[in-house]
Amino acid sequence: MFAELRELLRSGAIRRHQLRSKYLSTPTSYDMKKHKKEDFPVSQTFDQFQALYSRIRHFNRAATLMSWDLYTATPKNGYQDMSDTLTYFSSESFSLSTSDEFRALLTSLSQPEELNALSEGMQYTVKKLKKQMEKNSRIPKDFYEELISLQSASMQAWGEAKRTADFSIFAPYLEKLIDKTIQRCAYTDPGKDTYEVLLDEYEEGMDSASIDRVFSELKEGLVPLLDQILAAPQPDSSLFKGYYDPDAQKKVQELLLTYIGFSLESGTVAESEHPFTLGFSKHDVRVTNHFRPDDPLCAMFSAIHEGGHGIFEQNVDSALQNTEADDCPFMGVHESQSRFYENMLGRNRNFWLPIYPQIQELLPELKRISLDDFVREINHVKNSFIRTDADEVTYPLHIIIRYEIEQAIFRDHTPVSELPALWNQKMQQYLHITPSNDAEGILQDMHWSDGSFGYFPSYLLGSIYDGMFLQAIEHDLGSIDELLAAGRILEITHWLNEKIHRYGGLRLPKDVLREVCHKELSAQPLLTYFREKYTKLYQ
Ligand code: ZN
Repeated sequence: MFAELRELLRSGAIRRHQLRSKYLSTPTSYDMKKHKKEDFPVSQTFDQFQALYSRIRHFNRAATLMSWDLYTATPKNGYQDMSDTLTYFSSESFSLSTSDEFRALLTSLSQPEELNALSEGMQYTVKKLKKQMEKNSRIPKDFYEELISLQSASMQAWGEAKRTADFSIFAPYLEKLIDKTIQRCAYTDPGKDTYEVLLDEYEEGMDSASIDRVFSELKEGLVPLLDQILAAPQPDSSLFKGYYDPDAQKKVQELLLTYIGFSLESGTVAESEHPFTLGFSKHDVRVTNHFRPDDPLCAMFSAIHEGGHGIFEQNVDSALQNTEADDCPFMGVHESQSRFYENMLGRNRNFWLPIYPQIQELLPELKRISLDDFVREINHVKNSFIRTDADEVTYPLHIIIRYEIEQAIFRDHTPVSELPALWNQKMQQYLHITPSNDAEGILQDMHWSDGSFGYFPSYLLGSIYDGMFLQAIEHDLGSIDELLAAGRILEITHWLNEKIHRYGGLRLPKDVLREVCHKELSAQPLLTYFREKYTKLYQ
């Protein structure tokens, strides 16, 4: 499992907090007595459950700490030993959580009289763990082992295929992975459509009918807007050529994190090849960054993005601590928070107005660059091949291409051999460029190599939610431009804490939208944001 994790980070395909949400549960501290309602007698079953659950979380926390160490501190020669220990701790946790004892306790606690005596967070915990356990128990052990070893072989083949830009190396593995994925879904969710099951794993409750609707809205609005933007005069990126001292960039990161509301008392920073966030509890949230001496912008926006994930984790209600709800498992909702800070706030001119002079002091090379030029560059729209380098306007099209291909795989049963051509055709159709080889085309992302189908749409759902959140904030607090220009960004953070963060994982994505925006999912607010912003920027 952790070889995969390492590979995922190294590749940059699965970045930042995704690694945490997908592979590790987040351990926290252990004081679970409070999860029993005061006015009920303490049940023996709950005590036993609590003891075992607490052990599992201790093992998970230790494993998470080791993975943090692997990516930020372990020397090259110590890698294998540390990975072995990490694997040991996570297997212990896995054995405990799949033991007959844990199963029996979960079953007893699911009885209404036991369940109703628990706190909201603990009720959520019992229901979630029981559902997971039931699904997993329907997968035959042999099949599961085959799948794990196929994933590992497939990731290696993908690595080789990407290095040599040769899709044929990866194709047979992809074929098998697709078959196995269909089979796995048939075990866990018999009778359900495979692709719906997969979408549900990353963003529960967001079905393909809803996603189809909003992605089409977005596509129709974005393609003509993009054509207009690209026909306009472009900013001059060469202005930014220079040397940006990494130590000074670290100070800028600290300034930005503190400015947006990330607590350095309950959080810490380190360096890693690809930025990510790991939360141990709301009191210990760690973010990483990577500093390039020739590019000051990359680290600034990674700091803001990871800071957004971190602020979410730091502000989950204390009552949910030590439960499964102390962490939001919905990729779209989590990503909506990091992207809100990165794009809706961080790429707004007014965000920089109060702090740009301070940043210029820290990075003197920026003194040559006016605030207007800086703002034009951070909103520079250009067609590019690589999703992770894309600006906020073209990014949705990169995701839509992947979503449409996943549908072609699972709905239309398009043969694997035809996928590279399909990819290139869609790139041409939406972005008007054709990759020169499959490494910068269909092989660029790691996600499909380990069978993470259905994952991509959650990135874009996050941005779509952001359009809706922006409207809700402006409705409650007034113009975001004015708040930012006045340096009152913490009022926005406080709003997000109250409306979204404190609920952790308790509410499904659709319920978040209903409670926060009083609306159903729609891409119109995001389109309005794009149109207004880029019409002004590109005249
Ligand atoms: Zn993220």
